Amino acid sequence: MRKYVIMGVQGSGKGTQALMLAADLDLEHISVGDIFRWNVQHHTKMGAQVRRVMLEGELVSDDLVESVVRDRLAEHDWNYGFIVDGFPRNRRQAEFFLESYDIDGVIHLDLPDSEVRRRVLNRRVCPNCGMNYNLMDSTPVVPGRCDVCGAELATREDDTEEALAVRLRDYHEKTDPVLALFRRKEYVFTVDARPGPDIVQKQIRESLGLPAYKPEGNPEHASA
Ligand code: AMP
Repeated sequence: MRKYVIMGVQGSGKGTQALMLAADLDLEHISVGDIFRWNVQHHTKMGAQVRRVMLEGELVSDDLVESVVRDRLAEHDWNYGFIVDGFPRNRRQAEFFLESYDIDGVIHLDLPDSEVRRRVLNRRVCPNCGMNYNLMDSTPVVPGRCDVCGAELATREDDTEEALAVRLRDYHEKTDPVLALFRRKEYVFTVDARPGPDIVQKQIRESLGLPAYKPEGNPEHASA
């Protein structure tokens, strides 16, 4: 059983790295942002509650986020463990998480803000299968189409200059202290997120003492 948290500023490749790790180690990938986006796309009550907040790049209320995480982990479909992505994002969420669950490590993807802007503003996602692309580094074979399922690629609604500025500010104000808290408990493994996805994955495996990464077996290796 392996229980990890992956942290990093928007565009640092959290989703991609979490999926690569999850696919290979049979971990459940639990992305709070994906859960909210699913609710927005499916016009649920929760979707209506969070859509505007997300569009503006603000954080959803701690109560709602905690209940989403609690309910998701209570499904107990994670026989081999889980990797939580996008949570905790502030001190209160971190304290809730530490009180409720044991974790084996926090993977911290380190990326300078200048690189974040370049990546986020060039990010495209597949609304059908969730695959990520970056128009600078990992373009799809057929422009505008997902390599995996062929669906038309889209821009995330919150990948705008304005929303990014809010998210970066929140990250440094609220999420940096979470890293400091985890660091004190010696959970944090910091990895340089600037290289390509395969190299970042290799560094993560090495720092966590996990079996080596084999790109051939992982379809996700082409994603951003
Ligand atoms: P992400 O995909 O992780 O960038 O999340 C997209 C959006 O979902 C964020 O900009 C927030 O509005 C919301 N969100 C995701 N995770 C959290 C969290 N832990 N706390 C508060 N809001 C969150």
